[in-house]
Amino acid sequence: MDKQAASHSHRGGRDGGVEDAEPVRMESGLEALRSSPEFRGPVEPLEDLDANQHIALFYESREEQFAAMVPFVRQGLSRGERVMYVIYEPTEADVLEAMRDGGIDVDAALSSGALSFHTLEETYLRTGTFDPDDMLSVYRDALEKAKADYSGFRVTADTNWILDERTEIPDFMEYESRVNRLFEGEDCIAICQYDLGTIPAEILRDVVRTHPHLIYDGTLCHNFYYTPPEEYFEPDEPAREVERMLGTLVDRTKAKVTLAETIEELEESNERLKRFAYVASHDLQEPLRMISSYLRLLERRRADELDREAREYIDFAVDGADRMREMVEGLLSYSRIDMHDPAFEPVDCNAVLEDALNDLRIRVEESDAVVSAGELPTVVGDANQLEQVFSNLISNAIKYSDEPPRVDVTAERRGDRCVFSVADEGIGIDSEYLDQIFEIFNRLHSNEEYRGTGIGLTLCRKIVNHHGGDIWVDSEPGEGTTFYFTLPTERA
Ligand code: ADP
Repeated sequence: MDKQAASHSHRGGRDGGVEDAEPVRMESGLEALRSSPEFRGPVEPLEDLDANQHIALFYESREEQFAAMVPFVRQGLSRGERVMYVIYEPTEADVLEAMRDGGIDVDAALSSGALSFHTLEETYLRTGTFDPDDMLSVYRDALEKAKADYSGFRVTADTNWILDERTEIPDFMEYESRVNRLFEGEDCIAICQYDLGTIPAEILRDVVRTHPHLIYDGTLCHNFYYTPPEEYFEPDEPAREVERMLGTLVDRTKAKVTLAETIEELEESNERLKRFAYVASHDLQEPLRMISSYLRLLERRRADELDREAREYIDFAVDGADRMREMVEGLLSYSRIDMHDPAFEPVDCNAVLEDALNDLRIRVEESDAVVSAGELPTVVGDANQLEQVFSNLISNAIKYSDEPPRVDVTAERRGDRCVFSVADEGIGIDSEYLDQIFEIFNRLHSNEEYRGTGIGLTLCRKIVNHHGGDIWVDSEPGEGTTFYFTLPTERA
């Protein structure tokens, strides 16, 4: 069964087969990290920044190194690109193992030639000592070859070797700067891997200046310390750098102020929207009540004058008004969830479940449902809201089951949270609709088949999210459905 996360916080899975061969741009590289399960930190959006596809990865551990390298390589291969890896430290075996663990079919990639490993002797130190011109021609040739057969060219290289005596650091920095020009406008992207533990700060400072994008501490940043090659080698470089530093300071301050103002505006508008939803649903109740009661009054007081057809019309109208009332009540509960600051406290979920079952007693009895539950933990939250979650999920489990329904409620602790499940053996949900059922008013059945408003799951999601948790669903049509949700538990 497929686990579908219903919350927006869900990150995509691993890349599958060959994706559409769009050109490799910086945006592709960002996407590789943004959507990968390994790379957890923020990835700065590109917006209107100059996008040269040359990234420096600063790592302090293998884990950090691989968390960026693996999705980068995986994405290249899945997009049908040529991926070149210049190896030094760690060993090829370690890199291969990390790639395999990351779901890359390395054997297929190596045997097709899409992925290749290269020693220093074949690349940076091909002429015995490091020569920028020679190395640029290595990449130029590889890029040209890749263009013929692949949708793009992707390269990553270890750099710890620069500390050995065959390399002059200024030569290497010159090369790093010039590589930016080589890559400009080409379908290629590169990550140079720098070990913060071994490479001295004076060198790293130049690395920062020569790479337009940096990955550090699980974060991808566009680098405002970057010095474009045309400046890097020029005598007026200090003056340009001062200009850039001042510009950056001003931009940064302006951006912070704009952000603070935007947040304030959004908060105000959000408050107004919440208030609007609340007031609208609250105030709609009264006229609705008038419609149904006057229709009923008409039916009672004028019974003699009404024929069968007229009485049937009144029934339809009352039924419509009732359904609308249910929807308005649902909306009202929905808009109440975060109207006020949460006053969360320890809540015993066994008691919450008992209250929910008490409210559902008639429905349980009428359908002969069997609801079983394991021992549930104490969580931190709002008992009233949590009761609505249990109540909605259990009543759905009963509603969408053939009789007699069987429902099982369980909970399992995972660190400082608890994963609850409400499982039924009912009609199930087709996988293509799994994402839709949490949207407001989305229903998969007509009211004649199963009566409902399409608000229950939206409400559950809002409550669970309000508690800092996630909700998702697993289902097999004809077999049953299990809803899962997480809630924070009490600190031990
Ligand atoms: P309602 O039940 O009022 O229609 P919900 O928001 O509670 O609204 O559920 C949305 C839709 O999700 C339902 O219309 C139904 O199609 C589907 N659904 C919810 N729970 C289950 C379940 N346990 N088994 C099968 N389908 C379900």
